[in-house]
Amino acid sequence: MSVTMQTPLTRVLGPKTGERMAEQLELHTVRDLLRHYPRRYARRGEMARLDDLQKGDRVTILAQVTRVSSRRMKQRHGTITEVTVGDGAGSMSLVFFNYKHARLVEGAWGMFAGTVGTYNGKLQFTHPDMHLISGDTEEDDWARALIPIYPASKDVSSWVIQKSVKTLLGAGGGLAELVEDPLPEEIRSRHGLLSLPAALLDIHRPTTTEDVERAAHRLKWDEALTLQLTLAARRRAAALEPGTARPRRAGGLLDAVDAALPFTLTEGQRDLGEELAAELSRDQPMHRLLQGEVGSGKTVVALRAMAQVVDAGGQAALLAPTEVLAAQHARGIRELLGPLGRAGELDGDPAGTRVTLLTGSLKAGPRREARADVAEGRAGIVVGTHALLQEGVEFADLGLVVVDEQHRFGVEQRDALRAKGSRPPHVLVMTATPIPRTVAMTVYGDLEVSTLRQLPSGRGGVSSSVVPLHDRPAWLDRAWQRVREEVAAGRQAYVVCPRIGETTGADDEPEDADGAPPTDDRRPPLAVLDVAEMLASGPLAGLRLDVLHGRLTPEEKEARMRAFAAREIDVLVATTVVEVGVDVPNATVMVVMDADRFGVSQLHQLRGRVARGKHAGLCLLVTEAKVDSTTGQRLASVAATSDGFELARLDLETRREGDVLGAAQSGRRSGIRLLSLLEDEELIATARAETTAILATERGLADHPGLAAEVAALATDERAEWLEKA
Ligand code: ADP
Ligand code: MG
Repeated sequence: MSVTMQTPLTRVLGPKTGERMAEQLELHTVRDLLRHYPRRYARRGEMARLDDLQKGDRVTILAQVTRVSSRRMKQRHGTITEVTVGDGAGSMSLVFFNYKHARLVEGAWGMFAGTVGTYNGKLQFTHPDMHLISGDTEEDDWARALIPIYPASKDVSSWVIQKSVKTLLGAGGGLAELVEDPLPEEIRSRHGLLSLPAALLDIHRPTTTEDVERAAHRLKWDEALTLQLTLAARRRAAALEPGTARPRRAGGLLDAVDAALPFTLTEGQRDLGEELAAELSRDQPMHRLLQGEVGSGKTVVALRAMAQVVDAGGQAALLAPTEVLAAQHARGIRELLGPLGRAGELDGDPAGTRVTLLTGSLKAGPRREARADVAEGRAGIVVGTHALLQEGVEFADLGLVVVDEQHRFGVEQRDALRAKGSRPPHVLVMTATPIPRTVAMTVYGDLEVSTLRQLPSGRGGVSSSVVPLHDRPAWLDRAWQRVREEVAAGRQAYVVCPRIGETTGADDEPEDADGAPPTDDRRPPLAVLDVAEMLASGPLAGLRLDVLHGRLTPEEKEARMRAFAAREIDVLVATTVVEVGVDVPNATVMVVMDADRFGVSQLHQLRGRVARGKHAGLCLLVTEAKVDSTTGQRLASVAATSDGFELARLDLETRREGDVLGAAQSGRRSGIRLLSLLEDEELIATARAETTAILATERGLADHPGLAAEVAALATDERAEWLEKA
């Protein structure tokens, strides 16, 4: 039988094992199984000892069967088999329901893996993964110093996978016949990489940990190169899509916006504006990610791009992550445009356009009206939340989509909006959460990236301090005193809490409590309603206080934001509804309660709400964490650093990668098994450079059939889905 990477496993391993692997592990071909790497390696000497197991441990043990007994169950139909095993140090029982194994007999040795449970005070495994040691063929496997432990499933144990891989490695004329090395020899020797057969052999059947490391390094290269080539292909395909040019026109909305701006643009805003103006003038759709420090003035950059598109006869949509932010954008744009934003209304300028707000909470009537404005083209600027993505929202001529503050906005959602134009619109994604370089090179690899680093001049800047209740309890009084001083000077304050309060349950979650690190449960986190009451009757008595949180109706939220912006409220006690984008320049102090419950980037975002005007700002991070604890240190770093890029790095380190990339990226669907965005930055960058070099040659991938096959495999594979969903 001639076996290749594409041969179905059912043909090599038999229908039963093959089908189970396909069904339960999504392993279909020889390639799939060879690329199904061990999760870790068990060492003979490192097996858990039975006398120090604890309930809940996930372990592999090596033990001998001392007793086997089967009996009928009383309550249920069938038999229960109890097997006692011992390793000289201790013993435990293995429990099987309706299961018989011919070789599971007294005296047999085996490896058993599972999660330790207890029954009647005795440790036990229920249906453990097992590998009995007997016969000659397995002696060799057994003698190995490192035993691979594979991601397994209910009916396909790690041992079955181990045996199957061994079959493949010896199949046909051996591994070298079977696998074609996708990496060009020249790249391999330049970077000192193992050949693919050697790497596969070492990852599945290593003798030393050095074998594993060298093999993994080589296999990561395959992943990095394939990924970069896929992304490059995507970029090229996007560049070929026909879009609509939206060139600049003098004397229109854009000129009116520029004339109405109450400030001069920063150099960064101007340069970026030129860049966007030029890109919008091309008939190739723009795909750009704008990352700009909190408060760097991204909104006006976006608004100017939107105005250009409206001037060119198209519509622009601005998508915000929360209703509060969408409402604020709509309000701000309307104010800036004045009569030009009210075309069709009595006092409107007929030469202008209409600014329409479309959110999920609109009542049926206004919603119908708003949708009609959008569909019939009267609304040049449409601001909304995810409701904009819904079916039923049609645009007359969508020319530009701006996505605000959404670093997790995936290709899939971008596509949903893009599909709303007859031709793909230009797309601008904006975020203040800087994207670590590796993430920009992978998840966002299909976007061009621009950066706005400079803050408008004349900003007071924010200074931050930690208020450690445990070490410095008196500082909290001082914090409230500072709030009073600012209010006395005509300024305003935010107090942020992790929770709303009063009722408990699912709806009492902060709405964007994203990325908060796990904390030990000392006490429930502080709640907006409780803190507001405590402040009103205590340290902030006499000030005008109000609350803002996700349980209020959109109208209530909007009314309170307006009141706060109009300085009718001194202190706003809020959840993270104020996390992103909220812009009230007169607010100068923020006190974050239970600051340790928020993630690093989240704190940086929150802090971005103050000192958005000419006054200096102050951010106080109140925590019960001890100064010298890990959490205390993390807060101290946030307080000490105002560079969002540095904090993004810290954030990536303190959070699991899966969180950063979104759930879809984690797990085996990722197509990325070994590559780590945290640890392999250099490798990813090198692979990207190699990709560029390959594609720059005249024949491109055509000279590298092996690589082309890997790329094709990823593209047709449903695993590529993660690229859509990240
Ligand atoms: P972000 O980039 O965080 O979204 P915004 O666009 O909300 O920031 O801008 C923050 C504040 O700075 C707003 O009040 C905005 O009006 C103001 N602003 C923007 N650009 C300038 C500028 N060039 N000079 C002065 N203030 C500016
Ligand atoms: Mg913003």
